[in-house]
Amino acid sequence: MQQSRMLSSGCAVCGDELDGESAAVLEGTRKDGTTAIWYEPFLEDLRTSWPERGTHPACYATQHGIDKLLELIHTADARSREGFYEMANRVTDLEVKLDANEKEADKRSALD
Ligand SMILES: [Zn+2]
Repeated sequence: MQQSRMLSSGCAVCGDELDGESAAVLEGTRKDGTTAIWYEPFLEDLRTSWPERGTHPACYATQHGIDKLLELIHTADARSREGFYEMANRVTDLEVKLDANEKEADKRSALD
């Protein structure tokens, strides 16, 4: 699996393998040098290749507390909700355009 190649070691806390179908808390350095920590619901769906550390969610909670883990999960949820709304808005826009096109086509065929 791609992710196991990318994350050279297993879980940063317990050392066990990180399963691609499972969630993980990832850590990496952004281009500007700052550290990013985020919750990834499915490791194998990850589209970026820059995380340097991966941790089992349970191991992360053991180290940093359940509140910190839940905060990361909530941030990830908020991000995917945003993406979902964006997609829904685009679909609505397309529906409106299609509707307008159909009405235009109806008008034209009525004139024939
Ligand atoms: Zn672990």
